[in-house]
Amino acid sequence: DDMDVDTIWMDGEFVDWDDAQIHVLTHGLHYGTGVFEGVRCYDTENGPAVFRWEEHLERLYDSTQPYEMEIPFSREELTEATMELIRRQDLESCYIRPIAFYGYDTLGVSPGDCPTQVAIAAWPWGTYLGEDALENGIKVMVSSWRKHSSSQIPTNAKTTGLYVNSMLAGEEARRNGYREAIVLNKEGNVAEGPGENIFLVRDGEIFTPGLSESILDGITRNTVIELAEERGYEVHDNVSISRGELNTADELFFTGSAAEVTPIRQVDNVEIGERGPVTEELQQAFFDLVERRTDDHDEWFTYV
Ligand code: PMP
Repeated sequence: DDMDVDTIWMDGEFVDWDDAQIHVLTHGLHYGTGVFEGVRCYDTENGPAVFRWEEHLERLYDSTQPYEMEIPFSREELTEATMELIRRQDLESCYIRPIAFYGYDTLGVSPGDCPTQVAIAAWPWGTYLGEDALENGIKVMVSSWRKHSSSQIPTNAKTTGLYVNSMLAGEEARRNGYREAIVLNKEGNVAEGPGENIFLVRDGEIFTPGLSESILDGITRNTVIELAEERGYEVHDNVSISRGELNTADELFFTGSAAEVTPIRQVDNVEIGERGPVTEELQQAFFDLVERRTDDHDEWFTYV
């Protein structure tokens, strides 16, 4: 590997990066039966700090619920494993990927006695949507693929199988010259990006699709809602947003642990414009927060 990392925590042990292997008949490989998280750790004055670790851990365990999957480690054990993984590799800022999945036993769709395997990796990862994206914004395409409806598969569980849809939408957009996709839900309203939640600004007020719109309950989404409300903005976070409203937005941006706060400057053929003032203010507030240039919300940080 070229990432300057050498260790992965797997099923209770630290193993060499190249030894973190699974059987080819792993249930999760065949049927998408894994749940995972994407978390960022930021380099701060007080050392590496994992942003909203408790909330990510909570969502990881919650994601197992529909699949009757039992993670055979406690929250304390996964926390200690993660912090030790960052320490062992001398990482400062990094991306953390915990995953739990049905392993190898039987290849029936019913997982039967398949063990639940758990792994955690951490590595340095730059800007998800490109170096220039945070400042200049990105062009996005409304995908021809629709999101899974939450009546078809629980979209609030961060399940590996769901990301086939994300890959289709994202690659379609990239093939067409766009950086990322916007995916509509089954009703045809705006849901989210393949790995991001979406926000819209109109007349100084902020809108984001509600949790019943078949979206992931994003932790960055919650963070940005809170930061916006603290700054006096009216945030409408329980609404439907029609496709047409994208075109008439004053500003649009994506949020996500990987994508952070990324402005959207064009949707299909419609120019939204350069990063707007509300996006810039919230983006600044977000980076001031996560890089600890403020004392606010210290409870959201786990110092390594
Ligand atoms: N929606 C989807 C489909 C995602 O994969 C992600 C990334 N986890 C998000 C939204 C953003 O969620 P978060 O802010 O918790 O990373």
